[in-house]
Amino acid sequence: MNREIREVWSPNYNARPVSADIELVVVHFTGMETADAALRELTQLGSGVSAHWMIDEDGTIYRLVPEERRAWHAGLGSWHHWHDVNAVSIGIELVNPGHDHGYRPFPDPQIEALEDLLADTFKCHGLRPCDLIGHSDVAPERKQDPGELFPWERLARAGFSIWPDEVSEYPDGGLGVMDDAEDFIGDEESRTEFGLDSISLRESVSELQENLRAIGYGIETNGVFGAQTEAVVAAFQRRFRPGTVDGYADSETRALIQAVAQISR
Ligand SMILES: [Zn+2]
Repeated sequence: MNREIREVWSPNYNARPVSADIELVVVHFTGMETADAALRELTQLGSGVSAHWMIDEDGTIYRLVPEERRAWHAGLGSWHHWHDVNAVSIGIELVNPGHDHGYRPFPDPQIEALEDLLADTFKCHGLRPCDLIGHSDVAPERKQDPGELFPWERLARAGFSIWPDEVSEYPDGGLGVMDDAEDFIGDEESRTEFGLDSISLRESVSELQENLRAIGYGIETNGVFGAQTEAVVAAFQRRFRPGTVDGYADSETRALIQAVAQISR
């Protein structure tokens, strides 16, 4: 990579398990008011967090942890069969105040630097477009980064992410969470509008969950549209239907989930 890299080493890492290969790249936003504050947090002994890389909004790249070490960026969560995501991933933090401090678009120089970094990383570790994910994909119930302003489609065009082709809407309406998910499957509107009985609604929700699992999300297939399914649908929308992120599996979202499941590993 033909770029200057600033090295600010973080003590917050440990060894990767001997058997672990690098399988994923996880993108984050720093979620702090300034780049300096984020750099301090990520490199301070005792903070318990780090990442391999941090990219400032002007495109400056910081190396914080060597890629062969296990940086502490993803925390609790999963993707496909990986339950220790830090062990098998590279973590990249993008400077952005995040939803709590004035979330804003990622500037061009920052994304260009990210693309340069990804070009090296993908080549070095033999990664494929489906291997780039967001922190919210790993931990949909806890995390929202890098968020709906992250340019996934642009990265897909550059060969670093997957993106579905145009879809037509799902024929039988939407699925959403109910207050009492234990004994209600699907949402009232679809049930009356489309005349679905609760068994076919349960099947529809199971199929939705199966498709989300095929993409990589850690979600139970139980036919119940509860809080977990809502969080995973919202995480999916943040990436693939960023215009509306509401956790409601409307017919466009359902069609997109099916399309992305088909192009995932
Ligand atoms: Zn994060």
